[in-house]
Amino acid sequence: KYNPNGDGHFLEDESTKIFARKVADHYSARTNQTLEERENSPIIHLKKLNNWIKSVLIQLYARQGGAVLDLACGKGGDLIKWDKAKIGYYVGVDIAEGSMEDCRTRYNGDADHHQRRNKFTFPARLICGDCYEIHLDKVLADDAPFDICSCQFALHYSWSTEARARRALANISSLLRPGGTLIGTMPDANVIIKKLREAEGLDFGNSVYWIHFDEEFSEKKFKSSKPFGIKYKFHLEDAVDCPEWIVPFHVFKSLAEEYDLELVFAKNSHEFVHEYIKKSEYVDLMRRLGALGDGNQDQSTLSQDEWEVAYLYLAFVLKKRGQPDRT
Ligand code: SAM
Repeated sequence: KYNPNGDGHFLEDESTKIFARKVADHYSARTNQTLEERENSPIIHLKKLNNWIKSVLIQLYARQGGAVLDLACGKGGDLIKWDKAKIGYYVGVDIAEGSMEDCRTRYNGDADHHQRRNKFTFPARLICGDCYEIHLDKVLADDAPFDICSCQFALHYSWSTEARARRALANISSLLRPGGTLIGTMPDANVIIKKLREAEGLDFGNSVYWIHFDEEFSEKKFKSSKPFGIKYKFHLEDAVDCPEWIVPFHVFKSLAEEYDLELVFAKNSHEFVHEYIKKSEYVDLMRRLGALGDGNQDQSTLSQDEWEVAYLYLAFVLKKRGQPDRT
């Protein structure tokens, strides 16, 4: 399609929308599991480990009474973590209608839901929409500014086009207060591309996941200054089965800087675990979550294959430039 108002580029609009829909439909269709189903999941310890990583990030950066923007919040799996951090306000946005439905039920307190007994202490606004398309600064004008924005296991869905990646960062930047924090987790492109280079063909994986790149995967594009739309299919047992996009971290970092978001740190999940497990409060949390038997990567709990999936991800923290208002 030709963009008559634009700068002469052909729009990738149509296929981009189709892929965004595919991702949304995939997550929408995932129904809530019973406690028993969850405990029997082949990746239960990985799920617990990921919850631990998100909890540590939240405990490190959430402010008591602060306003939280949870981009791609999914079913609201982090609501309890935010509650524990005693936040003052929560806005969750996700593209998947089904997930938002579950999130609403979880927030409002569903008697049948194993995780929810009492009401949450903070007010919340839950919105269904495409975080990488909509101008959220307009939609959330009355809710901004936020002290913290969280985007967990989801920012890579914005890298289908440069326009979407930029929209994601513009939304985050315009809604955060100066000095506000962006915390998140996403695939570690360096690990994924290294594994692809070592693979026989265009697929690799283990008993719980596989990744498939299309024939047209281009090293040249990956190394270029505009590495958007590098698509692969990701399958994770009992969790994910949809198209995703590579986010070369150094480009993410410099693009974020254009939007006044400065990198504080980025760490692969393995490194993150090794670093924070040394701190007693986080070991205790790990034990309570039941992710790792004795606080190490105990293989009797977290399997080697799950630990390898953890290696596919990184955790990051960025700060919005400027000084917070002292009023
Ligand atoms: N953040 C949640 C968590 O950590 O439990 C959910 C993570 S799930 C792996 C990825 C989420 O990203 C899904 O809920 C999906 O619907 C959401 N998502 C994908 N593309 C999106 C978009 N364009 N706008 C908003 N949400 C999106």
